[in-house]
Amino acid sequence: MQRIGVLTSGGDSPGMNAAIRAVVRKAIYHGMEVIGIKHGYKGFIEAEMGPMNLGSVADIIHRGGTILQTARSEEFRDPRGRAIAFENVKRFNLQGLVVIGGDGSFKGGMEFYREYNLPVVGIPGTIDNDVPGTDYSIGYDTAVNNVVDAVNKIRDTATSHERTFIIEVMGRESGCIALASGLAGGAETIMIPEQPVRVEEICDKLIRGYRRGKLHSIIIVAEGAASGIEVGRLIKEKTGFDTKVTILGHLQRGGTPTAFDRILASRLGAKAVDLLISGEYCSMAGMVKGEIVAGNLEKVTTGRKHLDMDMYQLAGVLSI
Ligand code: ATP
Repeated sequence: MQRIGVLTSGGDSPGMNAAIRAVVRKAIYHGMEVIGIKHGYKGFIEAEMGPMNLGSVADIIHRGGTILQTARSEEFRDPRGRAIAFENVKRFNLQGLVVIGGDGSFKGGMEFYREYNLPVVGIPGTIDNDVPGTDYSIGYDTAVNNVVDAVNKIRDTATSHERTFIIEVMGRESGCIALASGLAGGAETIMIPEQPVRVEEICDKLIRGYRRGKLHSIIIVAEGAASGIEVGRLIKEKTGFDTKVTILGHLQRGGTPTAFDRILASRLGAKAVDLLISGEYCSMAGMVKGEIVAGNLEKVTTGRKHLDMDMYQLAGVLSI
C-alpha cells in the first residue's frame, strides 16, 4: 500500500489531532504517502484534499478539535455522492482510507468499502464513548475531565448557597459521560438513558438528605435521559427546593486533550496504519482491557455498547 487518505467525520473530539499526527507519521515511517481530506465525507466528495508531510502535523498533539476539520454530509449517504468520492479516490490514487469518527462515520466507510472495495480502517473518535469494540473512544476522557472541573466549581457555590444543582451533560443516547463524571464528581444522583429513574424517587432522596442535614445536592443528567431544565422545574415543583440548572454544552468538547486521550489517539492512529499494511481491512483500532486490538467494523456498526452497570450501582451506593 503506497498512498492512503485520512479524514475526521461527525462531531469533533479532543485528541483527533493526536490521531491524525500518528496516522501521518506512522505511514511516512513505513514509506507511505498520506492525503489529508478536509471536512470529512463532504470534502471527500468535493475533493478538498492534499498531501500531508511530517511538518503538517507538527505542534498539534496538544490542540483540541481537528486540523482537518469535520462535517456531516447528507450527500455521502446517497450512492451518487459516494460515486463522486470514488472519482477522487482514483484521481488521488488512494489505496486505503482511515476514518476517525463515530459509528455513523464507520457506516459510511463500510458502505464505501462494499461498493468500491477501498480498504477502510476506523479509529473511534467521539466524546460520547458509545462505539462498541473499544473501552474508550478518543475525546471521552477529556470530556469527562471537563465535566468534573465544572462540577468542582459548582460544588463550591452549591455548598455556600444550600441549593440543588442540576448539571446536564452530553452523550447523545449514552450515559457514559454522565456516569463517569457523576462518580468522579460525587453527584447525589445520576440520570442516564440506560436506567430510567422517576423524578419522584430523586425528590425522595433529596428530602431524606435534607432531613439529615445535607446542605446541597448535585444531580448529573445525561442529555439522552432527560432535559436538565425540565428536571429542575419538576424538582422545584415537588420539593420547593431552590434548583439551579447548568447545561455544559460544547464546553465539554473543547480544550486541550488529556494525556490519556493523546496516548490513546497515538496508539490507535499507529494501529490503524498497521491494519492497512497487514491487510486487515474493514476493521477498527480499539482499546480493550488496556490492549490495542483490531475489531470488526461491521460488528462495530451493528453492535451496541453496554454501560458498566456495576459502576452505576456503585455510584448509587456511595451517594446514599
Ligand atoms: P458522532 O458520534 O460524533 O456524532 P458520527 O460519526 O456517529 O459521530 P454521524 O453524523 O452519525 O456522526 O455520521 C457522520 C457522517 O457519516 C454523516 O454525515 C454521513 O456523511 C456519514 N454516514 C453516516 N451514516 C451513513 C450511512 N448509513 N451511509 C453512508 N454514510 C453515512
